[in-house]
Amino acid sequence: MTMIRCVSPVDGEVYAERPAMPLEMARQAVAHARLAQKAWARRPLDERVKLVLAGVARLNEMVDEVVPELAWQMGRPVRYGGEFKGFNERSNYVASIAADALKPLVVEESDRFERRIAREPHGVVFVIAPWNYPYMTAINTVAPALMAGNTVILKHASQTILVGERMVRAFIEAGVPADVFQNLFLDHDTTAALIAAKSFDFINFTGSVEGGRSIERAAAGTFTGLGLELGGKDPGYVMEDADLDAAVDTLMDGATYNSGQCCCGIERIYVHESLYDAFVEKSVAWVSNYKLGNPLDPETTLGPMANKRFAATVRNQVADAISKGARALIDPKLFPQDDGGAYLAPQVLVDVDHSMEFMREETFGPAVGIMKVKSDAEAIELMNDSRYGLTTSLWTKDAERAARIGRDLETGTVFMNRADYLDPALCWTGVKETGRGGSLSVLGFHNLTRPKSYHLKKVTA
Ligand code: NAP
Repeated sequence: MTMIRCVSPVDGEVYAERPAMPLEMARQAVAHARLAQKAWARRPLDERVKLVLAGVARLNEMVDEVVPELAWQMGRPVRYGGEFKGFNERSNYVASIAADALKPLVVEESDRFERRIAREPHGVVFVIAPWNYPYMTAINTVAPALMAGNTVILKHASQTILVGERMVRAFIEAGVPADVFQNLFLDHDTTAALIAAKSFDFINFTGSVEGGRSIERAAAGTFTGLGLELGGKDPGYVMEDADLDAAVDTLMDGATYNSGQCCCGIERIYVHESLYDAFVEKSVAWVSNYKLGNPLDPETTLGPMANKRFAATVRNQVADAISKGARALIDPKLFPQDDGGAYLAPQVLVDVDHSMEFMREETFGPAVGIMKVKSDAEAIELMNDSRYGLTTSLWTKDAERAARIGRDLETGTVFMNRADYLDPALCWTGVKETGRGGSLSVLGFHNLTRPKSYHLKKVTA
């Protein structure tokens, strides 16, 4: 029997394991989801919304188990709590707009015609989730998909194997029928076989570019709708009129929080030459304050990376950049807990350029490169010089200038004076190899439903 394992970054031991579900059993689970869907969709929207929110509330009651479990599975320090703030904010927001987002678009309602575009659930929605924010990334699709009348099958990352199980348990305890929301432990082959057999009516995949490609290949020819929310190499641009302290605070937090394991984490920063030296100095001081260590210790502010192979990627990129002329500004002596494995010191690199992998490929760790720029044009060119396009973070007091620059940016979101945040009222999306997702907001509901046109001509006596 194949086991799916979570090796804890805390101590390198197996923390949890579950048997991978055989294909035939997985097929049956999907068949149950399909059978349950029509009855679920016939229940009033209000009832579905209430049940989903009850599931969210039930999960909140499990906070004392969720927080250490997350630390063991993916290394996030317990002092940061679970992911409840974002998890609840997103769930409550989508609940508040569900009725509006799902209501028909009425074109004509007259004595002669009824013409409208209604929204129908897709059917069975498959959610494949990553480990980096395991609850928040899953809820982005799970909550609106269920509210819209779909049934949902969740396959969570091996690294956070207990998250899907716990989420489903909470929802079922709150009254969501068991066949309506299921967590399956699936290996890659079974996942691909289910997709290729057209088991699902829509798939939302959040993860790496390579993973997204595999899902797209598995779905080829099935016409299954895909939402692909993939990697990023998000830039910040600090203009000469920026609030320097606020920029340092938000951009360094965006670069290093969660050990830099955030899809919209800041990975490269371009600073106007007039602020460059001060920005670098303050950034180094900011990052040096971290306390790296065991995530179960409440004093720890920077945990290990989720897996030592993710830390190895960061180490290799940093070493490569240094071999090509970059300078590392964080003194390793400040972080004696760096063990060469999953526990990794944060790093700030200068004298970097775009010939280095460190400035081109996703690093997904607590390391950031800073470059000096002279003009908006130069900054725009550098920000766009990437195969990814998730967010950009612009720092200026001039909103018009930010909007003007924003028009030239190849990115899904443009922030001004903030970073690394998903606003549930806006569409979370990317361009280029960041994929073609579109979650949260009204558009997220539209992506989880299909339009159905009613063209009813009335017969007059
Ligand atoms: P990943 O390795 O691609 O895995 C993501 C999920 O997909 C996991 O559940 C994984 O299962 C599954 N998976 C990967 N390859 C698969 C395949 N060939 N067949 C079936 N399932 C497959 O990504 P990750 O390392 O967990 O997450 C980090 C990445 O996600 C980063 O690139 C980050 O930028 C991106 N991300 C993007 C967003 C966004 O909104 N754009 C949000 C969060 C994260 P296993 O764990 O079992 O392999």
